[in-house]
Amino acid sequence: MDEQKRSVDRVLVLGAGVAGLTAAWRLLQAGIEVEVLEARDRVGGRLWTSFAYGPFPVELGAEFIHGDRVITWQFLQRYGLHALDDPSQDRRYVGINSRVLPSADLSRSVGEGIFTPLAQAAEAWDAMGQPDTDLASALRWWATQQGIQVTPELWELWQTLAAIGWSADLEDIGVSGEIEATYEGDGLRNWRIAEGEQALAERMARELGESVRLGCIVERVEWDADGVRVLASDGEHRGRWAVIALPLGVLQSGTVEFSPGLPQEFCEAIERLDPGRSLKIIVELAHDPWGPEIGCLFVTCPHGIWERPGLGFAASEPVFSLLTGGSDARYLGTLPPDAAIREAVQTLGAVLGVDLGGAVRRGAVIDWTNDPWCRGGYSVVPPGGAGLRARFRSVLGGRLVFAGEFTSVERPSTVHGAIESGLRAAEVILSLRAQATIHP
Ligand SMILES: Cc1cc2nc3c(=O)[nH]c(=O)nc-3n(C[C@H](O)[C@H](O)[C@H](O)COP(=O)(O)OP(=O)(O)OC[C@H]3O[C@@H](n4cnc5c(N)ncnc54)[C@H](O)[C@@H]3O)c2cc1C
Repeated sequence: MDEQKRSVDRVLVLGAGVAGLTAAWRLLQAGIEVEVLEARDRVGGRLWTSFAYGPFPVELGAEFIHGDRVITWQFLQRYGLHALDDPSQDRRYVGINSRVLPSADLSRSVGEGIFTPLAQAAEAWDAMGQPDTDLASALRWWATQQGIQVTPELWELWQTLAAIGWSADLEDIGVSGEIEATYEGDGLRNWRIAEGEQALAERMARELGESVRLGCIVERVEWDADGVRVLASDGEHRGRWAVIALPLGVLQSGTVEFSPGLPQEFCEAIERLDPGRSLKIIVELAHDPWGPEIGCLFVTCPHGIWERPGLGFAASEPVFSLLTGGSDARYLGTLPPDAAIREAVQTLGAVLGVDLGGAVRRGAVIDWTNDPWCRGGYSVVPPGGAGLRARFRSVLGGRLVFAGEFTSVERPSTVHGAIESGLRAAEVILSLRAQATIHP
């Protein structure tokens, strides 16, 4: 590596999602020069908010802060952002076979909370010491053990929980990965950021100022003992270290080349972890098809959850969002947007017993899997994949450090897990830098 590169005491951060931004923010706090390279013309990655539907945030990506004790709160406080306890979580309904019923009616027969059977099945399977399996198999086995009759409706509901909780089908989720991700101490309630999730990323970016380069597509990362050279759509960037905070789906696609190539254990983890599949549909309807009692509605066709983003903001606009995942997200992503919206709204109408034909005033499809800068939903550990996420804790050649939701073992697939991964990456670089100062 040439002399010029060696002299640049700077950290390159690849990707201005919340993981990359947090890493850059922490390094800047420590007085280190950073340069954040972001392909999109905005920061935030999977934090993306629209205010086009009314005086409330419509989340096109991440929607909730999951838990009242997670690290996200520290940043909310720092930036003076506000959180709203999500009222929909106390009014969960399930729509199955043209019937709408409170989720508690269904849960009662199978456990306390709606997600409880999935967690209990995974734990019970793990406790047996059997080889890893998929969550579908573990659930079937657990239900038999518990004497629970798994009706087709109940099974469909569990698939819905997989689609929204894991952005995958039950068959594609590994039990061991479910056990690794403990989310311990996070708390159980969901909160919305009143200013929108993207505001969090924008406030961080504001602190970073001109060190964030938008519209900068990273194409190649060259690294050796002396430093890192990144070739991007706007030219060359040099630094002594780099934080790779690109999504798993992007790494998997091979659109970013590494030279020398990543070691075998990294390649294997990138290949075997599943980036998941997520798709959201936002619609403004001509009238309000559901009554005030419904907070949110789990549906099984497609497997997903309808939310009312204006709930809690005292907004009356009939604006609704559907989050779907797994194979249903893949299917809807193959349709033209109008057809996907029509199909989703039609089935919502069927569940509610209301004709919603012609009721869509406007709508949008946000297909994260077909988004070139995401290529997935949120990461999933496949059966037999225990330990894959942890591989990203290693530092490559003392130069490359990974961050991003998929690198979090305990809190993957969340905003707070991504934030923690960014902080961890920054701390690793600070300690590498301290060592380099002592032993130049
Ligand atoms: C539909 C959906 C709903 C979700 N709901 C929730 C929720 O309610 N609560 C929650 O906690 N989490 C939720 N999540 C998960 C959460 O959004 C993610 O875990 C988190 O935002 C990931 O942050 P990240 O920085 O790891 O990745 P990203 O946000 O994806 O950031 C990666 C960045 O890299 C950039 N990039 C990609 N390729 C290149 C390139 N070649 N060159 C330069 N830049 C590049 C991208 O544009 C992006 O900005 C949801 C995710 C989705 C998709």
